[in-house]
Amino acid sequence: MAKAKAPRRTLDSYTVKHINKTIKAGDCVLMRPADQSKPSYVARIERIEADARGGNVKVHVRWYYRPEESIGGRRQFHGSKEVFLSDHYDVQSADTIEGRCTVHSFKSYTKLDAVGNDDFFCRFEYNSSTGAFNPDRVAVYCKCEMPYNPDDLMVQCEGCSDWFHPACIEMTAEEAKRLDHFFCESCSSEGQKKLQNSHATSRHSDTKVFLLPCPSIQHVLYILPGLKVTSMSDGYQGGFEMPFILSTY
Ligand SMILES: [Zn+2]
Ligand SMILES: [Zn+2]
Repeated sequence: MAKAKAPRRTLDSYTVKHINKTIKAGDCVLMRPADQSKPSYVARIERIEADARGGNVKVHVRWYYRPEESIGGRRQFHGSKEVFLSDHYDVQSADTIEGRCTVHSFKSYTKLDAVGNDDFFCRFEYNSSTGAFNPDRVAVYCKCEMPYNPDDLMVQCEGCSDWFHPACIEMTAEEAKRLDHFFCESCSSEGQKKLQNSHATSRHSDTKVFLLPCPSIQHVLYILPGLKVTSMSDGYQGGFEMPFILSTY
């Protein structure tokens, strides 16, 4: 016998009892996957609804995809906490919510003092049917011409301002951290000269600061999988808004 469809209503917020956390539209949450061996799903809540008596609570969500769930798969430059905001919407029982989480912008993620279990970052939107990303290109750095992975240490050349992975310049991470100054191969001879001239004034430079990629570098673009290759002259405006400090020694 068919039941009459009960009217449902939208809730401003809802307290998920088993975790004792109140959620509302716009919050990011971790949700229990059907396959328990998989990591929790990351989603953004769009709307919360319940039946007329406030029961049977469902959340309308927009999924974040992990790199391995995308058509192109996980690439070397994807951070361990990177997720893509997809165009895949769904309705789930509020019971599957395991906890709240935070999906940071790329910039604010790189400024975190410490990355917790519940911290993620998103720099791309992802079209789940075509595998396309938005933006569809990203600035690259180093000799290896890779986009920046915030999990990796990089050092900046004082000559050309490009950023380098220690391994790509035949250095260990420990050696890179001990550097006072760094000039890449192509800037090397010029840089050493400049440094000798300014040596008297640079005695205070015991502080070693490693900066992450800065926006002035836009020499090459990495075109994400499945996308047309367009030239720099198309007016790429992406990349990093400002240099930021990774760590100080
Ligand atoms: Zn490299
Ligand atoms: Zn250089």
